[in-house]
Amino acid sequence: MSENFTKEINGLKIDPQIFSFPFACKCNGECCNYGVYTDKKEAEMILSIQDKVKTMMDDSQSLDVSAWFEAPEEDEDFDSGVAVGTQIINGKCTFLDKNGLCSLQKLAYSENQHPWKYKPLYCILFPLTVWNGALTVDDEHIDRLKHCNKFPVSNATMVDYCKDELIHFLGEKGYTELIEYKNEYFESIKEGVNK
Ligand code: SF4
Repeated sequence: MSENFTKEINGLKIDPQIFSFPFACKCNGECCNYGVYTDKKEAEMILSIQDKVKTMMDDSQSLDVSAWFEAPEEDEDFDSGVAVGTQIINGKCTFLDKNGLCSLQKLAYSENQHPWKYKPLYCILFPLTVWNGALTVDDEHIDRLKHCNKFPVSNATMVDYCKDELIHFLGEKGYTELIEYKNEYFESIKEGVNK
């Protein structure tokens, strides 16, 4: 699919669907029930702070670090070229506690750090994702969830609702370029319609 996308930012193709896809969701971590694919380097970072992570876990989670991650697999959509999935334990991501809170985010809060300091990139990005080299909508995951985006809290589209996440991912310059592309994209559609 990505070969049809013409715009690239930071070497990543942009799926214009993110400009029009309605998304505005406030749920309690349902998207974490399937776990996430981390980059191998992110999994290593999490293992390097395992003692601190364990202090954030409750009795619904495993303190056995060998049970935290799946086997690595090659995946070019990850910086290192290797993805490592988090395991599902008690029907939820290894790192999700029984109150629907991410232990990695709780740890960052407890240290007065940015909430995303220890969070895998693909957790931060959802409902956006990178697929075959393109920034796009993770509609497959949204569709299989019961509550995600089913009761939208506003009429926002993904590009608006995920502004902070996009700035984090693309940088301020990349985000500005994205919004310029959004305006050009809608302008080109308008011109096409008026022809
Ligand atoms: S690492 Fe945290 S945010 Fe990511 S899926 Fe697991 S619980 Fe959710």
